[in-house]
Amino acid sequence: MNTRKILLEESEIPENWYNIIADMPNKPLPPLHPGTLQPIGPDALAPLFPEALIKQEVTSDKWVAIPDEVRHMYSIWRPTPLYRAYGLEKALDTPAKIYYKYEGVSPSGSHKPNTAIPQAYYNKQEGIKRITTETGAGQWGSALSFACQHFGIKCEVYMVKLSYQDKPYRKMMMNTWGADVYPSPSDRTQAGRNILAANPDSPGSLGIAISEAVEMAATRDDTKYALGSVLNHVKLHQTIIGLEAIKQLEKAGDMPDIVIAPFGGGSNFAGLAFPFLRLNMEEGKNIRCIASEPASCPKLTRGVFRYDFGDTAGMTPLLPMYTLGHDFIPAPIHAGGLRYHGAGVIVSQLLRDKLIEAQAHDNLEIFEAGVQFARAEGIIPAPEANHGIATAIAEAKKCKEEGTSKTILFNLCGHGNFDMKAYDDYFSGKIKQHELTQAEIDTSIARLNTPLIPA
Ligand SMILES: *Cc1c(COP(=O)(O)O)cnc(C)c1O
Repeated sequence: MNTRKILLEESEIPENWYNIIADMPNKPLPPLHPGTLQPIGPDALAPLFPEALIKQEVTSDKWVAIPDEVRHMYSIWRPTPLYRAYGLEKALDTPAKIYYKYEGVSPSGSHKPNTAIPQAYYNKQEGIKRITTETGAGQWGSALSFACQHFGIKCEVYMVKLSYQDKPYRKMMMNTWGADVYPSPSDRTQAGRNILAANPDSPGSLGIAISEAVEMAATRDDTKYALGSVLNHVKLHQTIIGLEAIKQLEKAGDMPDIVIAPFGGGSNFAGLAFPFLRLNMEEGKNIRCIASEPASCPKLTRGVFRYDFGDTAGMTPLLPMYTLGHDFIPAPIHAGGLRYHGAGVIVSQLLRDKLIEAQAHDNLEIFEAGVQFARAEGIIPAPEANHGIATAIAEAKKCKEEGTSKTILFNLCGHGNFDMKAYDDYFSGKIKQHELTQAEIDTSIARLNTPLIPA
């Protein structure tokens, strides 16, 4: 029998996270103060994040120790399995070998608890009583609710209104773990009230929800804010994924030629890909790492590299990133976790330096890919995960055409068991190809008056 599932022992959970900044040939440019346009230091983040996380945000240490209590919590679902996708290989009749790392086995069903647990842990260490956050598809909100519940911290979640309406079970999960959940834009914050005044029917967006959660945290002393993607410390925590995957592939006697992950703000992509990029930079390997984004929110493939805000209202520092403009509101596609206007700073620099690649996939194509995967492998993927699957299928088909056998690894970052409305829409023909015109992108970017970055 060919081994399908490659497992590690609990004792093999990595003891350190990997910080790619230590190895980057060009370090990320500094964040700027939006008023003075001068670089800002880490203390500007102090109202929002605990000290330990700010330290991780700016550290250049290559390895960061994972606290014992965090590793112990990780052991609820980690190490996660690595699968050889025999079923999908057969369905595609491809000479490629396909593997996937499955992060859907966590309590909330995605990779998000990999960072929610350490974030709640460090907040607890510094005496924080309440954490505010935003959530798109509901994945991050549920992960943080689970983590806060464990550490006895109150969790307040601003959930993008479109998802709040589409995904009542995600909200109930958060309530089960003791969190309070509000549809965003809400009338609880100035940022939310401003949006509602301009557009009472706003479906919301991650950028808007971030503005609301940040405002709430900035105005209360016992409250901090937590972000589920984009930031350096989030990507750092997620590297547990790739570090485990390398151990598992070594067990299988294999190494990937291509590593693929879906891309929202970059955390699960970073999590899987950065440990493999280390092998490129340190050992001269030549592993292609591809980020898969939606064609209707294509910041990596069609955005610009310049300074922009991380949120819609413009409350964050200015960050050097690939962006579609901070008030770009993506079409209401079901992959809520990928409806974000920008990309994290590290990933943006890596793309600019051509150390990683990006591909965009249409909304209809990704559901075709997801259904094909579910029928071949059994697991029903989250709509976000379907983007990575679409890239993996495209690369496997290329192998067939070229008659080459490559080894492909992708991140199955979450299951879709709470996303059945999306699949129902697909089966009833309600999901259409969506064409984002160049004029729409240009209009959004033309509204930016943030600093340009010379080539
Ligand atoms: C949040 C989420 C994403 C997008 O966020 P990244 O930071 O880019 O990983 C993708 N897939 C799932 C299942 C998610 O929950």
